[in-house]
Amino acid sequence: MKRHSQHNQTGDQASGERDNKPPPSSSTPSHTTDLYPRYSRQLTLPDFGEAAQLQLARSSALMVGLGGLGSAAALYLAAAGIGRLVLADFDSVDVTNLQRQILYRMTDVGRRKTQAASTALLALNPALEVEELDGRLVGSTLESSVGQCDIVLDGSDNFATRAAVNQACLARRRPLVSGAALRWEGRLAVFDLRRDDSPCLACLHPDTHESLENCERGGVIGPLVGVIGSLQALEALKLLTGTAGTYRGGRLLRYAARSGHFTEFTIERRADCPVCRNRPETTGSL
Ligand SMILES: [Zn+2]
Repeated sequence: MKRHSQHNQTGDQASGERDNKPPPSSSTPSHTTDLYPRYSRQLTLPDFGEAAQLQLARSSALMVGLGGLGSAAALYLAAAGIGRLVLADFDSVDVTNLQRQILYRMTDVGRRKTQAASTALLALNPALEVEELDGRLVGSTLESSVGQCDIVLDGSDNFATRAAVNQACLARRRPLVSGAALRWEGRLAVFDLRRDDSPCLACLHPDTHESLENCERGGVIGPLVGVIGSLQALEALKLLTGTAGTYRGGRLLRYAARSGHFTEFTIERRADCPVCRNRPETTGSL
């Protein structure tokens, strides 16, 4: 794992482990000053403001997959001022990625995606702390990575990974914002697995052996992954800062890009769900 941080974060840091540089000489007032003008368009929102911005600076997200969905989501979270991103991918940048994976440039072809993404995100926001996880996230590595972040954004392209991420989020009680895009259709699903009453991904897809066709074979229209990835970033931002409003249960949003129609579905928790029926007991309330 590689860690990058160009300077101290705005807001509180958990420990010196995250940043070896000395802390700022003064505390909250200078932090607050540091928020302007960069985040001024968010700070002027009456239902966002400084408290949410500082909370975002203290927050971290695990990005599973740095393809088209992860590109849009990571760029928006970095730009918005999230404190830390953990970037997980096992692949290198290929020329066929450039049609939709907007983190990368021609000069990145052949580079590891984690490395190229880290460079791009730090260029956008040097206050960001980035960790690179180059390889397949499985087993204990996956679960510990989930446990070290406040939220998980899944933009992977295979069902085995999605099922494993869902299980890890359930085990560590982390919210899961799942995105998918193929051909002309995109899907966004949000599961707040901090809650005992939340459904999980397996409640939606109980057959864990289901195969997920990826865009290498099926194709995908470029801006669609930007739409869904941006929605993932927005939902994550709301969950991390507590600005999501009233909890409305697990939700699935389907976007038919050719017709331009969005359709929303409520996902019910299944009593017989093979994954979450035996979920671990929560240790506290939200
Ligand atoms: Zn379930």
